[in-house]
Amino acid sequence: MSKRRCDACGARVEVPGGVGDFWDFGSLEKAGPGGLTLELDDGSEFFLCYDCIEALPEDPARADVEALTEE
Ligand SMILES: [Zn+2]
Repeated sequence: MSKRRCDACGARVEVPGGVGDFWDFGSLEKAGPGGLTLELDDGSEFFLCYDCIEALPEDPARADVEALTEE
């Protein structure tokens, strides 16, 4: 396990670490114990904790993630 910082709120969450091929960015999202990687339609990627994921709308856009970052 390792810690990773949420791209929006900056919280440190635990994620599986040390396995290089665990993160498959070709998929929409990968679940982790404390957060997941979200890939948007424009190709940008963010690692977000579940609190931030839950705060996003059903079909989040980059502006929605950036709105979280500003809070
Ligand atoms: Zn967060």
